[in-house]
Amino acid sequence: NNDYWLERQAQFESSVRSYPRKLPLAITSAQGCWVTDANGKRYLDCLAGAGTLALGHNHPQIIEAIQQVLQQGLPLHTLDLTTPLKDEFSESLLFFLANNVNDYCLQFCGPSGADAVEAALKLAKTVTGRRHIISFSGGYHGMTHGALAVTGNLAPKQQVSGLMPDVQFMPYPHSYRCPLGLGGEQGSTALSHYFERFIEDVESGVCLPAAVILEAVQGEGGVNIAPTAWLQKIREVTQRHGILLIIDEVQAGFGRTGKRFAFQHAGIEPDIVVMSKAIGGGLPLALLAIRREFDQWQAGAHTGTFRGNQLAMATGLATLNYLSQPDALIQVQQRGAELMQQFTALQSQFACLGQVRGLGLMLGIEIVDERLPADHLGSYPADAALAVAIQQHCFEQGLLLERGGRGGTVIRFLPPLIISPAECEQVVYRFRLALQAALL
Ligand code: PMP
Repeated sequence: NNDYWLERQAQFESSVRSYPRKLPLAITSAQGCWVTDANGKRYLDCLAGAGTLALGHNHPQIIEAIQQVLQQGLPLHTLDLTTPLKDEFSESLLFFLANNVNDYCLQFCGPSGADAVEAALKLAKTVTGRRHIISFSGGYHGMTHGALAVTGNLAPKQQVSGLMPDVQFMPYPHSYRCPLGLGGEQGSTALSHYFERFIEDVESGVCLPAAVILEAVQGEGGVNIAPTAWLQKIREVTQRHGILLIIDEVQAGFGRTGKRFAFQHAGIEPDIVVMSKAIGGGLPLALLAIRREFDQWQAGAHTGTFRGNQLAMATGLATLNYLSQPDALIQVQQRGAELMQQFTALQSQFACLGQVRGLGLMLGIEIVDERLPADHLGSYPADAALAVAIQQHCFEQGLLLERGGRGGTVIRFLPPLIISPAECEQVVYRFRLALQAALL
């Protein structure tokens, strides 16, 4: 049963494990949007491998892709040497990104999102000869020294000295409870002017940065959606000053928000796009798409062993083929809209549900304490303890999900993109039961 496997895990692994502490289960099988634990209990998976499992668990097209690689005797790993499979994956991905294979070129990085973020930061410094990077509050880019340095959350950084220096943080325009009280459209307009002024006020002593890195929809930061006008302003100003715009699509990319990539909601074109998670169809793969004029690496300037995972390219290609079907992203948008509507409807019953926000199937709900006084924008303070309790009760109701945002006060839904309307209803049903239990 679960206890047996959890005890063995505690024996074998480092004691600081985040998911098992909150979700104490041992998974023995999984299919679609469902996982089954060692006690035979089934859970609806709204964590989906932190967003990697776009097609859910063991999708037939993913299984078939893996079987074909094995049956055809293809190599499993090729460093960065090409194969017909890699060729097809690359062409399909470039087309998926820009409808034109010549706008960007790819750089395969190590297996994880952080590997690709590191490469992006290095490339921007190489291209511009500058050292500073601008990043945003609430942004999450990974746990390695460079990626952590540009992550806009102090908690994971506090114990680690000597992270990459020369990072400047600016406030991300939250639609709600902005740390500077700059909520809504007015706030985001102010922030985009502030950004422009910050870059262009040469007398202020600000050094022109090599790059700006951001998520078009922040995931770990609590599902914050960048307003279109703000993103467009960032693009305009960075372009004017030869600052590379790096968009981290590790979580929000690949159909998650109902478009192929989240930055496409704003109609902008980044200089570097960071991709991982769903791009490997559940297997480890990370890469950059680089605007061709910025492909300025010296030979051997950025290498790494695990850049040739053929199985991940096969499962990535299967995911691409699925998401390229005319209806696939419409389904994501519809399921997302239905969930948003049903979560919003719950607000009238549960005053602890603050703002419900999301794009496609990347959704978040602020958990607030409505017994405390509201601020000048009418929003109640976040309630971290209640958010923990709700996550715990969701687990008991057979619903796996994560929290994010400041102090973990946003309940996040990141289901597989293939989730059915009936499964969405199950999500809401279980979430409602969990709310009732948490508030008892
Ligand atoms: N960027 C974003 C936006 C992410 O959400 C994550 C992971 N949650 C990363 C980078 C880091 O990816 P990895 O954990 O694979 O290193």
